[in-house]
Amino acid sequence: MLTDPEHIKLADRPLVVCDVDDVVLQFATPFEAFLTGRDLRLLPRSFKLTGNIVDAAETVLDALAVRNLIHDFFVEQERWQTPFAEAVDSLHGLASEADLVFLTAMPPRHAEVRRRLLDRLTLSYPMISSEDPKGPIVARLHGGRSLPVAFVDDMLGNLSSVGAHVPESALVYLPPDVAIFRFAPEPQAPVLRARDWLEARQLIEAHFRS
Ligand SMILES: [Mg+2]
Repeated sequence: MLTDPEHIKLADRPLVVCDVDDVVLQFATPFEAFLTGRDLRLLPRSFKLTGNIVDAAETVLDALAVRNLIHDFFVEQERWQTPFAEAVDSLHGLASEADLVFLTAMPPRHAEVRRRLLDRLTLSYPMISSEDPKGPIVARLHGGRSLPVAFVDDMLGNLSSVGAHVPESALVYLPPDVAIFRFAPEPQAPVLRARDWLEARQLIEAHFRS
């Protein structure tokens, strides 16, 4: 169910689709702390995890080892992941006039733990857990309604996927303030960059009224 948009019924009002990792819940910062606990560390040399995680002897971990670490982190996510400043209040504020849906790209086997964590944070909005491209999922959700739609993510690839499939959507880029994001590409119009949740909320509300 958590992997399928069909379980979500939208009301007759605007829609906000929002990524979770490194947008609502911190990922990069607690993941680095998780690595430290295993005598590993992240050397931010490019915009990816694979190839930049090393052990105590500075040997680079291979892709399978990195995938297993991310899996273990997500199993324990309730111990590690906390929301960004203003994220919870901003989402509650937006939800007073819009339907909110979380679209999280984590492997679906971790969806139940994520659901529980979001509920505990009073973020009981519908969630889709899928590793498929985000554009077609948002297009299916929105279904070409003549109501405003906005999408928030920290990955430009996801923003351009949604832009290609739902061109009327506001595209809000909200990168976390962490070292590895210094290597992320710069967003291009029509993608809007937000410094924090207060600005993201303003951009979305301005789009609703435009
Ligand atoms: Mg993310």
